[in-house]
Amino acid sequence: MQDIEYMTDETLKDIKLIVFDVDGVLVPRGTNIKQSGNITTLETKKIADKQIEQIRDIYDRGFLINISSGRSLFMLQDMFRKILPFVSITYENGSATWYKGKVIQHFNSYKHLEEVYPLLLKVRHENIKGFEPKEFIITIHATSRVPEIEKILGKFNQLYCIWNGEAYDIGVKNLQTKGVGLQRITRFFKLTKKNVMAIGDNYNDIELLSRAGIPVSADKERVAGVFYVPLGGEYLPADQLMSQILKVTSSFDLEFVVMNSANDAYV
Ligand SMILES: [Mg+2]
Repeated sequence: MQDIEYMTDETLKDIKLIVFDVDGVLVPRGTNIKQSGNITTLETKKIADKQIEQIRDIYDRGFLINISSGRSLFMLQDMFRKILPFVSITYENGSATWYKGKVIQHFNSYKHLEEVYPLLLKVRHENIKGFEPKEFIITIHATSRVPEIEKILGKFNQLYCIWNGEAYDIGVKNLQTKGVGLQRITRFFKLTKKNVMAIGDNYNDIELLSRAGIPVSADKERVAGVFYVPLGGEYLPADQLMSQILKVTSSFDLEFVVMNSANDAYV
């Protein structure tokens, strides 16, 4: 794996679509959730103004942008309201994609999760913080692992149960992944794998990165890539990646700015 500072315009020559994971990449990790009885409280994070600017600039350089998350669509729309015209959103681990107000569903998980859902709802454990509202996958937040949840899922071979340090994501193996979602939208935009760069930091990004011509890891301990962004830096991984892309694709604009300021000097 190479540090992204070695990424050049040559690296980007075939790239037309850039895919961003959300938590730990575009916004800091962590979802605040509280559930008591029928009341669920969820804190929404907003994307920072700097990242909005960067995404607009990347879009202006001619790249398509896809946001791919395990989160639900309504939360993602709320987080990314200011850049909805410039992006497509693939949500709930590749289950569906929102693009210009339309939803394209990639997988129907209903029959697959119907049996396990009520069993999970019955689990009582002090570690459990709550079920995050989702349509196609099941996400259970917890302070740490819950053995009973893992025991139940052990009986469902066709389902995955990914513990990411703050929640379990439960869905259908190989069919309901960010990788499948990316494969579908790559085809939707009439592109191939070599046209895609993707960045992610967590276990549910492994399939996503495997479907990208240029995978970028935002956490070397959890996922592998051709490039990596050093973890724990001052800036978010997406910030660092976009800065690098803008740096190596900006020569024309820089000349333009220099010419303009030269003209200003004569006035
Ligand atoms: Mg993440």
